[in-house]
Amino acid sequence: MEAREASKTSPRVRSALDALERAHLRKTPQRLAIVRAFVDDTTHPTAQQIFDRLRRAMPTMSFATVYNTLDALERAGSCRVLRVHDDGSARFDPRVDAHDHAICETCGAVRDIEPAKRARLPDEGDLDGFEVRAVERVYRGLCANCR
Ligand SMILES: [Zn+2]
Ligand SMILES: [Zn+2]
Repeated sequence: MEAREASKTSPRVRSALDALERAHLRKTPQRLAIVRAFVDDTTHPTAQQIFDRLRRAMPTMSFATVYNTLDALERAGSCRVLRVHDDGSARFDPRVDAHDHAICETCGAVRDIEPAKRARLPDEGDLDGFEVRAVERVYRGLCANCR
């Protein structure tokens, strides 16, 4: 059973499941479905969007289960929350390394952008003693569909 489960589980799914385990959440079929639906999702979905996608196949799925699972993944460092929209909605990002985002002002789509190799920093004086450890940019504009 354990071996069969491992053979069809990608490394990303496995590391997310390990994160849930560290957060003391049992690996239920519902949580497994949430993790599988989320780890390779590059659209930065809201918890509601993941819930809507899953409840057709799993009618007993509750929104609280989706939200709590994503929240546990975030606390375990296995996903990040982006609040880049004017409505302050939380978007979940399975990618945790530093990267940039492009946000469409018309449809709200969020996509990953590979960061420029050498990000230009403000002058020392403008940083006012602040030590920069990571640079992440948000580009606002129109996506290819909305142009
Ligand atoms: Zn758009
Ligand atoms: Zn991202």
